[in-house]
Amino acid sequence: MIDNKKLLDVLNNIGDRIIENKMVLNDLDTAIGDGDHGINMSRGFTNVKDKLKDLEGKDCTTILNTVAMTLISTVGGASGPLYGTAFMKSAAAVKGMESIDSKAFLSILKASIDGIQMRGKAVKGEKTILDSLIPAYEAYEKSLSDEESGTKALEQAVIAARDGVEYTKTIKATKGRASYLGDRSIGHADPGATSTKLILEAILEVL
Ligand code: ADP
Ligand code: MG
Ligand code: MG
Repeated sequence: MIDNKKLLDVLNNIGDRIIENKMVLNDLDTAIGDGDHGINMSRGFTNVKDKLKDLEGKDCTTILNTVAMTLISTVGGASGPLYGTAFMKSAAAVKGMESIDSKAFLSILKASIDGIQMRGKAVKGEKTILDSLIPAYEAYEKSLSDEESGTKALEQAVIAARDGVEYTKTIKATKGRASYLGDRSIGHADPGATSTKLILEAILEVL
């Protein structure tokens, strides 16, 4: 169960993990893009961490909306509006809720996918964020329907996201900047799928 206080811890930890992995994400993007995914994401989450300091006591929707606006206005690149929309849809998904339970977290994952697809028009298998996020959602849903705990479900989601990142190495990019490379994008992990995996790992760490 994530209440508004815990949500701030979760978001701070996401920020820390993204900032720590700035060079990892940059190197992945250097191989198949323009080498800025780490810079973009760590700039965004540095600003998010700064904003979180003023959000103590605010409700989950306000917190998530602030994250969304901050990412949209500071990340830049393709990933800024995509992650921004994901957080905006997540904010709407938990509107009026005091805290986020496993069912609400499932809605957050679904809302994030919908938001990213609304904005980026990608489907699974195009070597994007969705190739770790959709498997994570599916694993989370399956685990909950098997009546496992929210933590167990998130563990399954993280495993699926890691497998999703591995899978991105085997496919060619057909969306985003990496698609310019065609078959030469094969053999490299997708930066956005990797940042999504890091975000899910960071959530699990705090739960
Ligand atoms: P840019 O490509 O503008 O430099 P970033 O490097 O920050 O932006 O982000 C690149 C990542 O964005 C890619 O690795 C990919 O995962 C993700 N991405 C790009 N286009 C899409 C899309 N249409 N849908 C989902 N994710 C996408
Ligand atoms: Mg880039
Ligand atoms: Mg760029």
